[in-house]
Formats: sequence, C-alpha cells, structure tokens
Amino acid sequence: MPITIAIDGYSSTGKSTMARQLARELNYRYIDTGAMYRGVTLWAIRQGLFEKKLDVAGLIESLSELRLNFKYDRDQGQSVLFLNDEMVENEIRSSKVADRVSEVATISEVRRFLVEQQQAMAKDGAVVMDGRDIGSVVLPDADLKIFMTADPEIRAQRRFEELQSKGMPETLSAVRQNLKMRDEMDTSRADSPLVQVEDAKVLDNSEINPQEQLKLALSWVREIEGH
Ligand code: C5P
Repeated sequence: MPITIAIDGYSSTGKSTMARQLARELNYRYIDTGAMYRGVTLWAIRQGLFEKKLDVAGLIESLSELRLNFKYDRDQGQSVLFLNDEMVENEIRSSKVADRVSEVATISEVRRFLVEQQQAMAKDGAVVMDGRDIGSVVLPDADLKIFMTADPEIRAQRRFEELQSKGMPETLSAVRQNLKMRDEMDTSRADSPLVQVEDAKVLDNSEINPQEQLKLALSWVREIEGH
C-alpha cells in the first residue's frame, strides 16, 4: 500500500534532496511546498506589491488570479514550478525571492490558499511532501513524518555551494544571514510555525551523506509497510 510521507525542517537541511530521493526510489510524487510559497512571493514582487512594505491586502486580493502548477521538465529531469503557465523554477530560487518569502508565508490567507491545493495534491497518497507545516497542518495523518535538522554552518555552506553551482553567486555571509532570518521567522510566526511534531522521526544530517540518509529513511518506510 502506498503511504504518505511528510518532511519538515529548517531551511537548507536537505529536505528536498531527501524528498526527491525517496520519491524516485518509491515511485511516488514529490511536492515541494516551499516552491509554492516562493511562487506567491515572485508573483507579489512582479505585481509591485513590495514597493515599500508588503501590500498584504493587495496580495490577498490578487490570489484569485494566481495559478501554480508543477510539471515534469525533461531537461531538468524533475518537476518544476509554473506560475500562470510560465516556468519560474529558476527565478524562485533567487535571493530577491528568498529574502522575502518568509514574510509572505506569515499571511494566513496565503497559507490557506496553498494548503488547500497541497491537500488536494496529496489526497491519493503515494506522495512525499516537504515544507515547514506538513506534518503539523497539511498532512497531520501522514504515515511517516520526518523532521530534518543540521548544523547551521554546514547548512549555510551547502546552500552556498548549491547556489554557486547554479551560477547564482551569493556571499557565504549573505546565505548565512538569509537562513538565520528565515528560521527565525518560520519558527516564530503565529500561523502554522515550524514545529517538530511528537510523532516525527528526527534526522540530523550534519554528519551523514545523502546515500546514508536515504537508507535510513527507507528503513523507516519499510517499518511502516511491514505493519
Ligand atoms: O523550502 P523552502 O526553503 O524553499 O521554503 C521557502 C520558505 O517558504 C520558507 O523559508 C518558509 O518561510 C516558507 N514555507 C512555509 N511553509 C511551507 C513551506 C515553505 O512557510 N510548508
């Protein structure tokens, strides 16, 4: 029986690497909910809603014109985000989006708008979903919940290298600052803060590589399947 897997954790702890690995291995669908918050943020920037400070009412009102979809991209070998039929996968990873996304994610109407879509995407199971509120809010009945964490300096270094490899130059200190700011906002917001739910398996990958973490997560999946 296919199961539902929820992965939460701090920024740049390797959630998406792990979610993609698991989805590939199990032949499940991977849903990157962070990409959806990033998509809304890119939309807000393009609508000029960030002129001085974020125009929250304007953003809420414009949500009805915003469509987000994931489609498989052959070149990238993975599913990528489309905003009103435009592929925005690369742009949503830029620092202009990363610096603003956690503010957008504090808005309850934005969260409700996205959570509803995420729940619809997961309703048939066979899904790996990652984010900050998946085990707590989006899929509280998920069969397997994983909470990922890692040493902040290792996270910053990994993220820095990832951006470099994508030709998106950033200084290590700017990356470090961004991760710290997002962690703080994500754990302290009133609506759906990042929390480690009681029934989550904790995975600290400071000292383990992606192959080892996949092996561990697969052992948890097999445990559940065996029940
Ligand atoms: O996962 P990623 O780092 O791409 O997420 C970007 C931001 O989107 C997070 O820092 C957080 O503010 C927000 N987010 C959220 N809830 C989710 C997924 C992401 O608030 N389920």
